Amino acid sequence: MTIYSYEKSPKSSQWLLPLFEEMVQRELHERTQAIQDIPDLHVIRENIEQDDEQYQCIVDKSFCYLSQVTTEGHTSVACAEHWKSLPEGKKVMKVRFTDEDLKAMLARVRQRANVVTAEANAERVKVLLISEQANPCEANLVYLHLSTASD
Ligand SMILES: [Zn+2]
Repeated sequence: MTIYSYEKSPKSSQWLLPLFEEMVQRELHERTQAIQDIPDLHVIRENIEQDDEQYQCIVDKSFCYLSQVTTEGHTSVACAEHWKSLPEGKKVMKVRFTDEDLKAMLARVRQRANVVTAEANAERVKVLLISEQANPCEANLVYLHLSTASD
């Protein structure tokens, strides 16, 4: 997944976090809904690389990268939201990542984004201290206050 492999740098994690969070929440919600609505749904974990068009939902043409629903014996796929438009028959849901995988990935992005926030705060402290150098006593106070706050 492009978006996830891009996540390695802490800086990108910060802007990525809200998008990733939304994507994971939506995916988990749609999965739960589909599992509830489709009788005898067979869920399988699938890591096989496929052509792009084999991931496209027949209704909204979105890429069903995280999960896709198919009818056994048919090639058409739909996202978890549009499975009703698939041919009649036994439905199979292929998931690229399990719910637990997705939650773990989200936790890692969140963790990295928090690191950036801490770094940004440290940077602000430095700027504050430099700007306070005209009055060293005050600068020391600021520094003291910040060290106490981080304990
Ligand atoms: Zn769809």
